[in-house]
Amino acid sequence: MGGRSAGTEGGRKRPVPAARKAVPRKPTARTTAARKPTARKAAARTAAARKPTARKAAARTAAARKPAARVSGKDAALLRARQRVLIWYGEHARTFPWRGTRDPYRILVAETMLQQTQTGRVVPTYQEFVRRFPTLERLVHAPAMEVIQAWRGLGYNRRAADLHAAAQAIEHEMGGVFPHDPSKLKRLPGVGDYTASAVACFAFDQQVPVVDTNVRRVLARAALGKDAAAVAPAGAVRLATKWLPPGEADRWNQALMDLGAMVCRSEHPLCRACPLRAGCRYHAKGRHRAPARPAAARERFEGSPRQARGGIVDHLRDAAHRGVTLSVLARALHPDRKERDLGWLVELLEGLARDGLVEMTPAARRGSPRGVVRLPA
Ligand code: SF4
Repeated sequence: MGGRSAGTEGGRKRPVPAARKAVPRKPTARTTAARKPTARKAAARTAAARKPTARKAAARTAAARKPAARVSGKDAALLRARQRVLIWYGEHARTFPWRGTRDPYRILVAETMLQQTQTGRVVPTYQEFVRRFPTLERLVHAPAMEVIQAWRGLGYNRRAADLHAAAQAIEHEMGGVFPHDPSKLKRLPGVGDYTASAVACFAFDQQVPVVDTNVRRVLARAALGKDAAAVAPAGAVRLATKWLPPGEADRWNQALMDLGAMVCRSEHPLCRACPLRAGCRYHAKGRHRAPARPAAARERFEGSPRQARGGIVDHLRDAAHRGVTLSVLARALHPDRKERDLGWLVELLEGLARDGLVEMTPAARRGSPRGVVRLPA
């Protein structure tokens, strides 16, 4: 404030000498020499100033590394386990007609068939099914009767009706676009946690665990040293999420399935051939040597309602469009049963009708022997 600005003199512009304008000043030896100590000093000051910071930073890094080193020990073990499993899978992967495709429709068909059914039984039925209904659109427009016919040999026929209904929901309610997200897939008929995760992972490469009985058994044993039955489903999913290698969900989930089916079998696991043996807690406890426990009491199939339902649908498949009367159906199912009351059969048929597997005439609903029942059109 109050000072004059450079280049002015008495409030007027001061002319600048031409020489000062034209010739820039070259540094002379003296000025260079004079600068050197300054630069050295500055460098020294900077170095001095940096030293404690560098030491502090190094100390911080070292301090930060200490706990990380403990975690990374576990992480390293997990990394090794994942690598070994993936290498094992590269050498031993099973081949199935639904592997190697990203078609969500085909994967949904396969995963629906694989619910509660062994892969060996699924393969031929799957191949025939996708030959008859190669696309979602073809399945949507197929008569229910044909879809149920194509399910022959698999059992749990309700899955056929659910698959048909799921295809129609995708076509009519979702504009023919498959949802990618497990939570949306689960809104489809017959699609539960497992199937939703399988379609999301195998068709859309979503990084989610796919936990079937094989995966649950392998992880329960290897990570916890427990039998699968001792791990709740939600706990198994948490564990599977923790073990999931980033970006490798597709191969990893298939690898664990194969490992459970081929090596970490429910009885007599083949630990010697197992890529997880080194860190397996089940093996470390010696539990793999325990004699096989008697299988949990299974639902008796012979004489069960499930067997009767399957028998009815099989009979109706053969009758096709014509359908059959209740009296014929009753004789086919129980040739020795003489009672005239067909209430037992009507009850079974009504359950099948609710599941979309049969159609009954009003007479059949009343229990008339001449009432007709058939597969839905
Ligand atoms: S070492 Fe044995 S018990 Fe452990 S995961 Fe492998 S096969 Fe299963």
